[in-house]
Amino acid sequence: MRLLPWLCAALLTFCAVPASISFSNEALTTTAITPRRERVLIIIQDDCPKCDAELSKLKQSGGAFELLKAKGWSIGPTPDSHIQIVNQTEVPELAKSLGAADYPAIAGVTGDEVIRYFKSGCTTPLDPWTFGWLISGKNERPTEPVSEPARVASTGNYRLRGNHWSVEGDFNPSHDKTLAHLRGPNHVTSASAYGSIETWSLEELRSLHDDLHEREGGLSSGVGVGSGSSSRSGSSKPSYLLPKSAR
Ligand SMILES: [Zn+2]
Repeated sequence: MRLLPWLCAALLTFCAVPASISFSNEALTTTAITPRRERVLIIIQDDCPKCDAELSKLKQSGGAFELLKAKGWSIGPTPDSHIQIVNQTEVPELAKSLGAADYPAIAGVTGDEVIRYFKSGCTTPLDPWTFGWLISGKNERPTEPVSEPARVASTGNYRLRGNHWSVEGDFNPSHDKTLAHLRGPNHVTSASAYGSIETWSLEELRSLHDDLHEREGGLSSGVGVGSGSSSRSGSSKPSYLLPKSAR
């Protein structure tokens, strides 16, 4: 593990997170197939409309699976796949350890350990870059510049940015919804470091939300990746990266 335990604990509340959970590969190795050491598990359930919807989105023409396969990724039910799709009944203990209330549950595995975890429900986009991060810990997501000058309300409490992430699948969320999401279980720990965000403008809330996902999702968390626009760079580690409550 590269991360200190307290940091892991602090990050566990976010959506795409480093984790350290041991499990038995044996449960997933019923044949003579040698498991890939580094792979992503997609844990699904029976009678799970969200699982079906997510999988069909991933499998659609031009979707993440097609793009990843073009890069040489294998995707299938066996543990030698880069992305292994398993039913929760095959890995009940792991599913329990992950505390997955929401399926599909998606985890990056190294050997017998889950080291990264994508939390469903937070809508970090489940795209090839997220899969790349899950399997390698490296963020290769291109850093895009803020596309247009701010023409929206600001209270001066937070730097505005563009390229917003969705909030629970909503790309045009209301102030109330964004605030509730930031105060909800996925972000409450980190958002609490910013004080009375209730008074912030919607664009400020959305900008904070974007940054939380990108930094604390491991997508640029202090590994020096990312450059260009404003404080998206992880190298400078602004002081608000780590809330005091994490200490
Ligand atoms: Zn979120």
